[in-house]
Amino acid sequence: MQQTIDGRAAPSEHCYPVFNPATGAQLTTAPICSDHQLAEAMRTAAQAGVAWSGNEPLRRSALRTFADALAGDAGLLAEALTSEQGKPLGEARQEITAGIEILRAYAELSLPLDVLAADGPITSQVGRQPCGVVAAIIPWNFPFSIAMSKLGAALLGGNTVVLKPSPFTPVTTLLAGALSRETLPAGVANFLSGGDDLGSALVRHPTTRAVTFTGSVASGKAVARAAASDLKRLVLELGGNDAAIVLPDADPAAVAADLCAIAFRNCGQICATVKRLYVHASIHDQLVGELSWQANCLKVGNGMTDGVQMGPLQNQAQLQRITTLVAEAVDEGAVIAAGGRAHDGPGYFYPPTVLTRATDGMRIVAEEQFGPALPVLRYEDVDEAVTRANNSTFGLTSSVWGTDPHTLRDVAERLDTGVVNINTHDVQIPGAPFSGRRWSGLGAEGGIHGVLGLTDARVLNIAGQ
Ligand code: NAD
Repeated sequence: MQQTIDGRAAPSEHCYPVFNPATGAQLTTAPICSDHQLAEAMRTAAQAGVAWSGNEPLRRSALRTFADALAGDAGLLAEALTSEQGKPLGEARQEITAGIEILRAYAELSLPLDVLAADGPITSQVGRQPCGVVAAIIPWNFPFSIAMSKLGAALLGGNTVVLKPSPFTPVTTLLAGALSRETLPAGVANFLSGGDDLGSALVRHPTTRAVTFTGSVASGKAVARAAASDLKRLVLELGGNDAAIVLPDADPAAVAADLCAIAFRNCGQICATVKRLYVHASIHDQLVGELSWQANCLKVGNGMTDGVQMGPLQNQAQLQRITTLVAEAVDEGAVIAAGGRAHDGPGYFYPPTVLTRATDGMRIVAEEQFGPALPVLRYEDVDEAVTRANNSTFGLTSSVWGTDPHTLRDVAERLDTGVVNINTHDVQIPGAPFSGRRWSGLGAEGGIHGVLGLTDARVLNIAGQ
C-alpha cells in the first residue's frame, strides 16, 4: 500500500501499523509521509493546477473516468473499508456506492455564471475561480464518502488536492489513490498518509490556499487557528450532539424502531445522528421499553460476517471513551435499560446501549459521545424540550417525531441546527447543503455548496457591449 504523488506510487521508508477493530489485530501497515514527499505533493499539485484550472470539460471527464475505475473495484474497496473501519459489509458497500455517486454528480454540475446589468453600459459576468491547492483532511467514520465529497467539490472547482485520511483508516483511501493514477491527470489529486502532525503540516504549508476539514471540534479549531495567519479559505465539518424530540402523539413502537436503526448505525459514530433523545413523559416508559427491546435484538459482530447489523467501535480510545461516559452517567443516577457493558474478548465491541434517567448535565448528554450509547431524557412540556435541545455549543442536525403536522412543523422551525428533520434523522439528499451552526462547523458541503466554499467569486466587467 503506497501513497500517490504526481500520479505515481510513492514508496515510503517508514510505516505504522493499522488495526482491524473487529479483532484488535494488526491489519496492515501504512506509509508515513516524509517531509520531502509532502513538499513534492505540494509542488506537483501547484504545477498541475495551471492546466487543470482552465479546462472544465477535462475536469468533468476525468471525474467520470475516476468514478468508473472506483466502481470497477467497488467490492474490493468495500471489504477494505469493513476491515479497517469495522462497519458491516452492507454498510461499507453503501458508503462506496455513495462516494462514487457523489463524484459522478460533481461531474455533471455546472459552475455558476451570472450576468448582471445586461441592459446597462457595463455588463458584469460573475463566475467562480479556484482557490489553488486544497488540503483535504478526513476522519475515520466515513473515510471513503467524505474523501470523495471533498475531492469532487475541489476538483470540479478547478483546484488541485493534497488529501490525507485519518491515521486509523488509510487503506480504502490509498486504494482509491492507486486507482486515480491511471484516471486523473498527474498531480491533480495526491493521496498521502500519516498522523495528525501531517494534517497540521498540510494546513500550515505555504502552498495550501484552502483547507477542507472534517473531524472533531478541537482539531477544527486548531486548523482554523493555523489557517488564519495566511487567510486560507476554510470549510470545517465538525462534531454534532444531535437532539431528537419525541412528541406525545408519536407512536412509540414505530418511532423506537426507526430510532434504533438510526442511532446505532455505524456503531453510533456519525456526526449527524441522534445522540440525545427527549421523550414526552406520557410515552416515555413505553418508548424506552420498545427501544431497549429493539437494541437487544441487534446482531453485533465482525462486519464481515453475514447478518451482522452493528460492528465494533473503530478504535480502542473510542471504546474507552464510551465505557467511561456510561460508567460516569450511572454513577450520577442514570439507569441502563439495554447494553451497558463492553464485550469481553478481542475487538473494540460495545453493545447498543440505552440509558434512562439521564439529565442534561451528564457528560454523555452534554458532550458528543460518538458511540452506541443513547441517553433518554424525559420532558413534560414541548417548549422546555426545545430549549433543552437548543442549549448546546453544537448545531449540526436535529429531529422531531410525532403525528400532528402543525406541531411537528412548529417545533422544527424552532430547532436551531443546520439541518432539521421531521420523522427522520441522518438523511442527506444529494445536492442539499450540509452545514453546522456554532461549533459544528463553518461553510458547507454538498453539491454546488461544496464548490462555492472552495472557490472565490470572480467578476468580469465589460464596457460597451
Ligand atoms: P479528529 O479531529 O481527531 O481527526 C480528523 C482528521 O484530522 C484526521 O485525519 C486527523 O489526523 C486530522 N488532524 C488531527 N489534528 C489535526 C490538526 N491539528 N491539524 C490538522 N489535521 C489534524 O476527528 P476523528 O476522531 O477522526 O473524527 C471524529 C469527529 O469527526 C467527530 O467529532 C465527528 O462528529 C466529526 N465528523 C463530522 C462530520 C461532519 O460532516 N460534520 C462528519 C464526520 C465526522
